[in-house]
Amino acid sequence: MLKIAIQAKGRLNEESMSLLADAGISAASGSRKLISKAKGFPMEILYLRDDDIPQAVAMGVADIGIVGLNEVAEKGEKVDEVMSLGFGACRISIAVPRETEYTDATWLNGRRVATSYPHILAKYFADNNISAEIHEIAGSVEIAPTVGMADAIFDIVSSGGTLIQNGLREVEQVFFSEAVLIATPSLPDEKLAEIDKLKFRLRSILDSRDMKYVLMNLPRTAVDEAVKILPGMKSPTLLPLTQPDWCSLHVVIPESELWEKIELLKNIGAEDILILNLENIIR
Ligand code: ATP
Ligand code: MG
Repeated sequence: MLKIAIQAKGRLNEESMSLLADAGISAASGSRKLISKAKGFPMEILYLRDDDIPQAVAMGVADIGIVGLNEVAEKGEKVDEVMSLGFGACRISIAVPRETEYTDATWLNGRRVATSYPHILAKYFADNNISAEIHEIAGSVEIAPTVGMADAIFDIVSSGGTLIQNGLREVEQVFFSEAVLIATPSLPDEKLAEIDKLKFRLRSILDSRDMKYVLMNLPRTAVDEAVKILPGMKSPTLLPLTQPDWCSLHVVIPESELWEKIELLKNIGAEDILILNLENIIR
């Protein structure tokens, strides 16, 4: 049976669980055991620290895992990256005390940089011919400059709020991360077939998360114009209404384009526009 490793608690736990839940897979409720049998898919769920997931998957303790690309890159374990999961986005950046007169990356030469990501940082230094000292610390990296432990830090940034609170300024964005599904390399065919089934479910959830189902009433005379505005998956669906010169138009629109398209549709006479969430898209 397939084993999946997910973060036991922390930033990725909740979204990993809710992605699985949306795909119809839930864990035996409540208890925080190390391992539990999933409902809705033949699979066991292993709860680990995110640092341990790349190794667990590389060793085959778990066949697959959900973890940040940052941990995959830092640990350097041999795993296959199967698919991006669209959550847990963050970057790892160099930040310096706000008042520092930072010019460019050459400023880093001869400085001390505190981080929990020494391997990713060492690679960045090597790629950019920088010779600087790497101070590995496990947590609270952002206070290192204040307490005199380092001249700069290399740490995870998402909104940047924590940096500002600590009087720091982001100067180089080095590594971009999001949660990914990883797998043990060279798994036997029957495991790969099970992973394909899971991927299929996850893909349909991820596709539908970015999309909205939109219904509207439209004057018949505006249909050609609407079709030009709205290239749907095949084409928009048209249904007749009891009023002969009106119809109902249904279409799936990417969330990023939603409001721009709604504006255009209103301009050509669309009324009573309903916007619905999609649960699944099976292509
Ligand atoms: P664990 O106890 O499992 O080792 P952790 O404390 O190392 O947990 P979390 O802070 O829960 O890790 O973060 C887990 C992952 O979430 C990170 O490795 C990263 O991929 C992602 N992430 C997204 N945004 C952020 C953020 N703002 N700060 C930290 N991690 C983030
Ligand atoms: Mg960790």
